Amino acid sequence: MTHRAVFLDRDGTINEEVGYVNHLERFNLLPRVGEAIRLLNQHDWKTVVVSNQSGVARGYFPESLVHQVHQKMRDLLKREGAHLDGIYYCPHHPDVGVPPYRQRCRCRKPATGLIEEAVKELGLDCSQSYVVGDRGVDIEFAGRIGARAILVLTGYGKGEWEYCKEQWKVKPDYVAEDLVEAVHWILQQEK
Ligand SMILES: [Mg+2]
Ligand SMILES: [Zn+2]
Repeated sequence: MTHRAVFLDRDGTINEEVGYVNHLERFNLLPRVGEAIRLLNQHDWKTVVVSNQSGVARGYFPESLVHQVHQKMRDLLKREGAHLDGIYYCPHHPDVGVPPYRQRCRCRKPATGLIEEAVKELGLDCSQSYVVGDRGVDIEFAGRIGARAILVLTGYGKGEWEYCKEQWKVKPDYVAEDLVEAVHWILQQEK
């Protein structure tokens, strides 16, 4: 039995884009994100966060902070009756910092390493799944895993859409104001 999933970018999609979440206090959910994820939970979608966190490789914060931030994310969502089925992140960067964080890894989006892990662990079918994110890299990532792509206009989304979309090899299937609108669109497609 395979499950369908919504792969969620983190910064700028779930929480406020602040450059780098280099302190627990800088992690704040965007409006109505709890409602959006709760809706997916209620409709039997697996919710999986897929996030590049190169701030670790860059030496801006320790990897332990990423875990603290993810605990805070789970706690804040829980208050809204929402949960995540998986959280996957890449702490690497190809040319900044020191090994082992500095490496040409297979898990930095748009590479698909993180998804291969998630697919195995959670039994997911990417062809039935969606990616939601605020950057071109998220859209390209969706193309590589064979999922449908939604760009949200939160975070970097507005600027990405206005100034960068001509360069994108993969175009989003839908552009949404925010995560809750993206989720409404997904649920409508699947009716
Ligand atoms: Mg983002
Ligand atoms: Zn990586």
